[in-house]
Formats: sequence, structure tokens, C-alpha cells
Amino acid sequence: MMLPERIGTGLPEAAPDASRGFRVLVIVVGACVVAPAAWLLPAERLDLRFVLLALVTVAVSSRVAVRIPHTAGRITVADTFIMLALLLYGGEAAALLAVAEGFCSSLRISRKALTVCFNGAVMACSTYATAWALRLATGRPEETLGAASAATLITAVCLMGLVQYLTNSGLVGFDKALKLREGFWQTWRRYYLWTSVTYFAGAATAGMLARLVAGFGFYPVAAAAPVTAIVYLTYQTYLKSVETAAAQAAMAERHVQELNRYLAEQERISRELEESREHFRAAALHDALTGLPNRTLLMNHLKLAVEHSKRRPDYRFAALFLDLDRFKVINDSLGHLAGDQLLVQLARRLEVCIRATDTVARLGGDEFAILLSDIEDYSDAARVAERIQEELSRPFHLGGHEVYTSASIGITLSDTGYQDPEAILRDADTVMYRAKANGKARHELFDEAMHARAVALLRTETDLRCAVERDEFRVVYQPILSLLTGEVAGFEALVRWQHPERGTVSPAEFIPVAEETGLIVEIGRLVLREACRQMSEWQARGIIRPEHYVSVNLSGKQFAQASLAETVDEALHATGLDPRCLRLEITESVVMGNAEAACSTLGSLRARGLGVSIDDFGTGYSSLSYLHRFPVDTLKVDRSFIGRMGEGDENGEIVRTIITLARNLGMQVVAEGVETARQGDLLRGLGCEYAQGYFFSRPLDPDAAARWLADRRGERAEADHTVFV
Ligand code: C2E
Ligand code: CA
Ligand code: CA
Repeated sequence: MMLPERIGTGLPEAAPDASRGFRVLVIVVGACVVAPAAWLLPAERLDLRFVLLALVTVAVSSRVAVRIPHTAGRITVADTFIMLALLLYGGEAAALLAVAEGFCSSLRISRKALTVCFNGAVMACSTYATAWALRLATGRPEETLGAASAATLITAVCLMGLVQYLTNSGLVGFDKALKLREGFWQTWRRYYLWTSVTYFAGAATAGMLARLVAGFGFYPVAAAAPVTAIVYLTYQTYLKSVETAAAQAAMAERHVQELNRYLAEQERISRELEESREHFRAAALHDALTGLPNRTLLMNHLKLAVEHSKRRPDYRFAALFLDLDRFKVINDSLGHLAGDQLLVQLARRLEVCIRATDTVARLGGDEFAILLSDIEDYSDAARVAERIQEELSRPFHLGGHEVYTSASIGITLSDTGYQDPEAILRDADTVMYRAKANGKARHELFDEAMHARAVALLRTETDLRCAVERDEFRVVYQPILSLLTGEVAGFEALVRWQHPERGTVSPAEFIPVAEETGLIVEIGRLVLREACRQMSEWQARGIIRPEHYVSVNLSGKQFAQASLAETVDEALHATGLDPRCLRLEITESVVMGNAEAACSTLGSLRARGLGVSIDDFGTGYSSLSYLHRFPVDTLKVDRSFIGRMGEGDENGEIVRTIITLARNLGMQVVAEGVETARQGDLLRGLGCEYAQGYFFSRPLDPDAAARWLADRRGERAEADHTVFV
């Protein structure tokens, strides 16, 4: 008999109110059944056999249940025994036994009185209802069983199973439906419909046992119990091993499924990983906007081309460096979006101009580069450049605007014998600038002379780095004189590079390189320090007078350094030179490049007591409004004006204007590059106070400068009067 609620799946301890009421009702009905049953119990029939049956039922049989394989159902032997008691001893005895059994088995799962009583009452009600059904259908079973025909017995068994099933499952199902707050039919169908088979099996077993008892007597049948027990235990053991095997099989199945899931997951992850790797690889080598190869990929291809040309001397390639001529204008006027569109369209047009074996790459901004592999000669590269210009001559359509552009293209050929892809691109870039300077919308070839110059430049750059470490710089001094008195006013310190192989290198050659590499900051610091030291020494030795000054050139890079004032202080402090003996020369273009900032830097330098000169004056574009605000002592007129002074009035006029301007602003004027006596005369005539140039002296090394001063003093003492020039 199946009583899921009773045997275990659990009646919640706190049942809702409706369920509680129903349970109480069932308990009351149960009590009403049990009381008359106890009263009507035919005590004379209850012999030792009944006691034994009752004991076995209560103590043992409810614990023994036969599992029905592949269902959740179990046939408890207790139910079979209760039905057996019903058949052998009548409804009253069976009802009382059912109550006792119901209590005992309930107590094993719950201490709640309501639950225990309810289960007992359900058992009592269902058993008593079954007994009455049998009585009505076939008469009292305990009396008719012995003589009952097979048909009657089968009817009794079926009826017993059916009524017991319906009452039992009906009561428990109703209770469960109340608890779950769902319809009775729905609950009953879900939980109890299938349990009918267990009732009928129980009833059939009971009927069979009852017939055996009727035929062979109680004790012979009871004696067969150990055999039945052995069969039962064997069956249980078998079931257990089947269950264990099934559980293991299920577990193995689960493991296999898990493993498959895991493998599928691994496969998915590695596929995604590979995809993202591919994606990153492509992204790392391509330009996001145009989808063209980027610089890295182009470099790889260039490297391969270089390797290839080394192995096969007849293999030639060319690199084209392309820069749009009016990209900034388009970008600024139509916006970045239009600029981006232009670059994308340009990329597509460039692709049309090359073969599948060539590479067109975007290097950044509006710069593109093309590698033409395996070409015959220069004319092939020139032809591609012309095709590109032709493609670009068609208008671009950018968001409703029609835009025209062109490109400047620099070309390098593998004939130059490149070893390094960087150098190829650098030279193509260099020559592209020449194309731009020569009028744009054209291409230029990087030739041997340019290559030689580039190599020399590279060498200078490398050597310059060593020169700082090896202390290869010297300072020479060029006197600055008064045109009025002929007295020496000071010196301009000029740096020289004593190259171990090339000899003396002119600053005009290496200063721009030093500027570009930033080395000028360190070189300038050395020159400043040395010039201050030299002045201090000369002063100490009485070679110069305290009012003589040294004028040191500052480059734009140095001038922009935040630590400039600190560097100057350090040089003065270390050499003990009076700041009034130091002047700093800054070119007009540097000063005017960022006039506001220059104003404050110059102010802070002047505040230290040293002088400031504007160098190469006249070559830049001075703003007069700034000029009068600049804290400047001296204007140095650029030597180009002095050199051409005699050629026409115009240059003379410029010099005159500068002199007048300086005088009005309270500044001194130094004329640079005076090479002839006539230039000196002219300048003096224009009222220029100071001059410097080969006519007086070339820049001299310290010893020569000291000798020059001594000689000059001697001469002047001899002359005893101020005859000059
Ligand atoms: P600069 O400052 O205009 O220096 C004057 C240049 O004119 C010097 O060339 C000098 O030798 C030259 N010179 C002097 N008198 C005559 C003359 O009568 N005729 C001609 N044709 N030239 C004359 P140098 O020494 O070759 O210097 C060239 C430039 O290099 C300088 O021009 C200056 O801009 C830069 N320079 C030199 N030394 C330094 C330095 O220590 N630091 C920085 N930053 N630049 C320096
Ligand atoms: Ca100078
Ligand atoms: Ca100058």
C-alpha cells in the first residue's frame, strides 16, 4: 500500500489552516471508526496467531518494503498484513491493527501528534471502508474465505485493492491539495494515480496468503516466512546492487556528459581565442581607419625586400613616400570626419595603382608609403607616381563637398644598397619634402648626392653623441669692439668641434644636428661654463679689464629649458664671474617665436644682472610692440646686411633704421660680419657703436685671443692716440 505522506516524502510540519482542519476532521472520523471497531471486536476470534500477526505487522513489516523497479512506489509488507488480517480476522481487527501500525510507522518520521494521529486515522478509515465494501459485496471475509470460489476471491481482492486505494489516496491527496493550494484532481493525478498498482499487488498477496492459510493452516504458512525473508533479502540485495550499478552507470553517464560539455567548452574557448588572436594579429598590422597595412607590416615587407635583393642582385624594388598636399586645410575646414573619409577614399585609389605583389601602407596622418617589389628600373616607380597623381586629380566626394587634392611623393630605389628598412623610409621621407619644397603635386627621386648627405648627417649625429662624452668641444673668442673708441668691449664665445678625424667642424654644420637631437642643451651648458671660466681666468691674470664681457649664444632649445636660469646661475657661481660680464645671445626668430614666454625668461635672466642681446637682428619678423617691451640690452645686426651694405642704398637704409630703432629703445647696436674698413666707416657714419668681424679679428682660441689683446694694447700705446680703422 502506498502512503507517500505517511512513509516519508514529508508532510510539512506547519500545514496551512485548511489542511489542519481537514486533518482534525479525519482524526475525528478515525476515532468514530476505531471506537465501535474496538467495541465490536470479536475477541473470541483473536488468538495467538492474531497476536503474532499484529506484532510482526507493527514491529517488523512496516519497515520492510518491496521496491517496484523503475517507479518510486514501494509495497510495504505491513499493508499486505493488514489486508491479510482483514481477510482472516475481519474489519474491526484489521482497523485496529491499521491504527496501531499507522501510529508506529508515523512515529518513526514525526513527533507531531497531529501528523501521527492523522496517519493513524487515515489507515483506520481506509481499512474500515474496505472491510465494509467487502462485507457488502462478498459477505464477511473472515467467515466466507474458506469456502469462497476463485471468482469470489478475485473479486474480493480487486475490491479490497480498489477501495483501500481510493480511500487512502483520496484522504491523503485531499490533504496534500489543501496544503499545496491546488485542485484535488490535479494533485491526486500527479502524486497518487500511479500508486494504484501497489494496492492491487498488496491485495493480491494478502489474498494469496489468506488462501494458503485457509488451505494449509497458519503455522505452516508462517514457517515459510524465513524462506520468504531470504527471498526478500536476496531480492533487496539484488535490487541494491542493481541500484548501485544503475547509480554508477548514471554517474558515469553524467561524467561522460560533463566531459563532453567540458570538451565542447574547451573547443569553443580555443576557437574564440584563435579568432581573437587572429583579430589582434590583423589589428596589430593594419590601420584601423583604412584597413591598409600599417608601418609595422610595411617594415616587415621592406625587410623581406632587402633580404631578397641581397640574395638576388637583379631584384630591384622602390619605396614611395606619399604625403597629401592640402590635407590640413581640408581637415580644418570640413572637419575630421571628412578628413577620415578622404583618407579612406585615397586608400582605395592607391590600391588601384599597384599590383597585388606591392604593398600600400598608411603610416599615420596623411602619410602613406608604397613598396613596389620587383621593378625594372626607376621609370617603373615614376610611372606609378604619375598614376597616383592622375588618380588624385579626380575630385573626392566628402559629405556633399567636392574636394581636390594632390600629393608630394618621394621615391627611393634599392640600388642605393640599403641594409635597413628604416633608412629606406627615412630617405623617401626626406626626398618627399624636397618634392613639397619644389612646388608640391610632384615626385622626386632620392639620388646619390642626397644619400651621401644623409649618411654624413647620420654620422655627424652618431659622432656628436660621442663628442660630448669625449669632451671634443673647444670655445673660440671673437672680439667685439667700439667703433667710436677702438676699445675692445668684449668677446663672442663660439663653439668649435675638434673632430678626431674630420678636424675642426663648423658650428653651422653640427649645431642644427645638435638642435634636432637635443644634444645642444648639454653642449650649450659646456660652452657657457667654459666661457665664464675663461673670462674669470683672464680677469684674474689681468688680460682683460673688469668691464669686458663675454657674449654666449643660446639655442632655441636651451632658451626653452625650464632649467636655463639654474644653468646660468651654476656657471656663474662655479666660475665666480660677475654676472655683468656675461651676455646671452638669442636669435630674433627664437625670441619672437613665443614672445610672451620669451619676455618673462629674458626678464628673469636680466634680473640676475647679466645682459641680453638679440642675435641676427633683421632676419626674423620682429614685432615692434614686443620689441619695446623686451628687457634687452643689445641688437646684433645680422651680417647679411653688413656684407651687402656697399651694394645699394637699401641695405644701408635697413642698418640705419635698426640703429635708430635701437637708440630709441635705449639699446646698444653691434654690427656683425664687418670684413672691410669701408664697412666700418659706413657703420660709424650711421652712428653704430659696436662691431665684430674678420676685419678686426677672426674668432681666436684663448691663447691667440690673449696674444691678440696684448699686441693690440702695444700697438695702441705706440700710436698714443685714437686712430682707428
Ligand atoms: P652667430 O651667432 O651669428 O655667430 C657669428 C658667426 O659669424 C660665427 O660663425 C663667426 O665666425 C662668423 N663671423 C664673424 N665675423 C665674420 C665676418 O667678418 N664674416 C663672416 N662671413 N663671418 C663672420 P661660426 O662661429 O661659424 O658660428 C656660426 C653660428 O653657429 C653662429 O652664428 C651661431 O648661431 C652658432 N653658434 C656658434 N657657437 C655657438 C654656441 O656656442 N651655441 C649656440 N647655440 N650656437 C652657436
Ligand atoms: Ca651670435
Ligand atoms: Ca649673428
